[in-house]
Amino acid sequence: MFKKMLKPGITAGVIGGIVSIVLSVLLVLALLLPGQVGVTLYCLSSPIGLLLSLGIGLLAAFLAQRQSLEKLTADKTAPAGVIAGVVSTLIGIVAVPFTQQMPKWLGLQDRLIEVALLPSRMMGLSGEQLEMARTQIIAAQQGRLNNTTMLAGMATGLVCGLVAGIALGAGGAALGALIFKPSLRRKLVCEKCQAAFELGGNAFIEVKGEGAPDLVDYCNWQDLTPDAASQQQAIIAETIKTKGQGRQWQCGMCKTVQAY
Ligand SMILES: [Zn+2]
Repeated sequence: MFKKMLKPGITAGVIGGIVSIVLSVLLVLALLLPGQVGVTLYCLSSPIGLLLSLGIGLLAAFLAQRQSLEKLTADKTAPAGVIAGVVSTLIGIVAVPFTQQMPKWLGLQDRLIEVALLPSRMMGLSGEQLEMARTQIIAAQQGRLNNTTMLAGMATGLVCGLVAGIALGAGGAALGALIFKPSLRRKLVCEKCQAAFELGGNAFIEVKGEGAPDLVDYCNWQDLTPDAASQQQAIIAETIKTKGQGRQWQCGMCKTVQAY
């Protein structure tokens, strides 16, 4: 099961990682906006990042469900979310040195100080107190140039990012299991007796071989051995993909042969 979650997890992680890089570049560019608008937007980066991590998990669950005939439960999609969280965090980390330098290249250091001052402003500090806070922030920023502190900061960021990415990715993927339904299933209704078969749901296909129609009948998936079940899934997926082209099926109830 875990192996099956690898592809949707990595795909969602790569997409999420790229989106998070684009987003962090856009947020820095938002600082170019005049007044408090840009500063406020920049401050929203944390909640936006959290929502993005959750969205990456949802995407992983969607991709996992799309490739599966059976309805996936939260414990099955969660691993895909974990993988997506790890991959997107690692991709996002690569861009951190770049997005950290960006304000400097764009001459936006003063705006970053405004961002750091926003909480103090919101608390309604007086002009004098604000000036003191500003001095402290500038001192702290210069202190950060120290390499050891910067590395320690990045390591902490990586660990925190991974933990948050994994937790939110798994949560999003578990949530996705409640939302997404298998799209590979197909309903077949017998033209004569109106028996409704749902391939992959309550019914399966028995391939009778060259020239003979496939038998479609009700089955209990729980009764199939894991091997037989995965073989059945492959047959159904193939039939759905080719739309049963040129083949016929026989109703398991009234034995009527008909086109797919
Ligand atoms: Zn029938």
